[in-house]
Amino acid sequence: GAERTKNVLILMSDTGGGHRASAESIRDAFQLEYGDEYRIYVKDVWKEYTGWPLNDMEGQYKFMVKHVQLWKFAFHGTSPRWIHSIYLAAIAAFYAKEVEAGLMEYKPDIIISVHPLMQHIPLWVLKWQGLQKKVVFVTVITDLSTCHRTWFHPSVDRLYCPSEAVAKRALLDGLDISQTRVYGLPIRPSFCRAILSKDDLRVELEMDPLLPAVLLMGGGEGMGPVKKTAFALGESLFDKEHGRPIGQLIIICGRNQDLVATLQSTKWKIPVKVRGFEKQMQKWMGACDCIITKAGPGTIAEALIRGLPIVLNDYIPGQEKGNVPYVVDNGAGVFTRKPKETARIVAEWFSTKRDELSRMSENALRLAQPNAVFDIVRDIHELACQRSPLANAPYMLTSSFSSLI
Ligand code: UDP
Repeated sequence: GAERTKNVLILMSDTGGGHRASAESIRDAFQLEYGDEYRIYVKDVWKEYTGWPLNDMEGQYKFMVKHVQLWKFAFHGTSPRWIHSIYLAAIAAFYAKEVEAGLMEYKPDIIISVHPLMQHIPLWVLKWQGLQKKVVFVTVITDLSTCHRTWFHPSVDRLYCPSEAVAKRALLDGLDISQTRVYGLPIRPSFCRAILSKDDLRVELEMDPLLPAVLLMGGGEGMGPVKKTAFALGESLFDKEHGRPIGQLIIICGRNQDLVATLQSTKWKIPVKVRGFEKQMQKWMGACDCIITKAGPGTIAEALIRGLPIVLNDYIPGQEKGNVPYVVDNGAGVFTRKPKETARIVAEWFSTKRDELSRMSENALRLAQPNAVFDIVRDIHELACQRSPLANAPYMLTSSFSSLI
């Protein structure tokens, strides 16, 4: 008979822009590869089904990144296995009922977690429901190298690691090599599939057709020293001697509305565009010659695909720290926290050090893994095909987790 459509539940949380971007990239790749064979739900399950603290992860994340020392403490403080498992055990007992309701509503054949805290509870619920052998559960890690141990759970069917360094840590944490795959970070298919010419993009985006362009951003929330860096670039990219600009500046502030307002009301000596949250990052990156960003894994992976040399100007302590050597040691960019230094580097790239810019661009392209997302969905598809076809009612079990505790 005809294959029935399979349900895929992608568990994410809207912290920053990275998890959502990864979730959406996987959804889009499924649709491109398999069309109607799969029905995809991207859900911030915690937000919809649980109470504080998990439903406020977005708020907590914003709070945390503003108080980086605290975040650093939380990251390392919860690292030992015995602490985080007690913590998770307590939360799990409290929230399992709601999580279970979420899983029951979407009746997933496949669950994909793209969040460090979304392995333990869903896997427990599956186990209690006797669904572990029927539902494919995979984790897609979205941190490039120094990722938190809560990403690793030995009961997953597959763990997709963005780099060999992450896969190594997973093995040390008890996963088997047969469970891990290293394809790269999943990036939205629009980044690798569309053929974009820089000239056309500049016309479409109403940019100067000739001046070299630098893209300045700070993740989905517009974080890091964006404002100071913008002002410094406003000076360094203006050739005082000849009274003309040597470059143009694109600033993408994400959801940081205050930043948009401040930068839009500034008078600039060089061509500047200030934007809020942009849906077509591949176009802006395709139209620019280099990028300045905090060390967000999503932005880094996208910039590498576009061959943009990167100035990393900040990182979130803990999970983003390892992204810095990943970029710098591979010759795809530099790291500095000083806005003036950043501005000087970019001015040099656009004048006396153009050869360095093109060398770094080549290195970036060498690191890029544009097909990672397709490798991931094909592998998940194979896992799903290996499972014996589901009867129609795998979710009709009567005893619920909450009645067991
Ligand atoms: N992003 C976007 N529009 C914006 C700003 C950011 O689509 O206006 C995307 C960006 O392309 C990347 C993600 O948001 O895919 C940011 O992820 P990253 O891991 O760099 O940082 P996070 O925001 O998660 O801290």
